Amino acid sequence: MWRTTATVVRCGSEAFLIDSPVFPDELETLPPLLEQAGFPFTGLLATHGDWDHMLGRLAFPGAALGVAETTAARLRAHPGAVQRALRDFDERHYLSRPAPLTLGSVEALPVPGYCGLGERELELHPADGHTVDGMVIWIPWAKVLVCGDYLSPVEIPTPEGSLDGYVATLGRLEPLVKEAAFVVPGHGGPIDATSARALLREDRAYVEALRAGAASLPPGRRDAEQRRLHAANLARLRASGAP
Ligand SMILES: [Zn+2]
Repeated sequence: MWRTTATVVRCGSEAFLIDSPVFPDELETLPPLLEQAGFPFTGLLATHGDWDHMLGRLAFPGAALGVAETTAARLRAHPGAVQRALRDFDERHYLSRPAPLTLGSVEALPVPGYCGLGERELELHPADGHTVDGMVIWIPWAKVLVCGDYLSPVEIPTPEGSLDGYVATLGRLEPLVKEAAFVVPGHGGPIDATSARALLREDRAYVEALRAGAASLPPGRRDAEQRRLHAANLARLRASGAP
């Protein structure tokens, strides 16, 4: 669904699942897939609190879920929102799941900061703007950037949190993208660094034009669904009192 990505990162005898696939059969496949790959699952991370990234515990019930402090605050402020959004989606698509989603004891991680994995550390960078919360995860030894709902080759920017936050996050992503071998956006990835650099330029231009009231859709992302997202971006701006 939505070309949603999930990333498994391993170091030594530990492996984290970052974000999640959406469909029940995809989630069911994860534990045997990791086992076959020799990735010893130890925990979950989510880049942000949108429900489609938070389903890891359906595959690994009882696992600890680490999120940015901003995401933990968002989840606390809107208890049950993830489960309600999942239920709406499942009803709309006639999906049934073996068990309801519980998020368990969510661990709030300081961002910017580090998160240990085996004998190494993942780097956590703040990434608000798409939503009010979130982080991107830089895997230094693999030169992989897991960037949540930024730099998507299939989806235009959706600055539901704030335009200023979005532009600032793109600025923080820039040096990481320069270093990266691969970038894994939440929808449509993974992509190589050259594509990610091009998307960063396009997305910055789009968001800045949106702020100036003159945005047009980037090439390759102009289908009916992207036009709908664009109209929603404009409506959100008008509702916030922008000219
Ligand atoms: Zn998403």
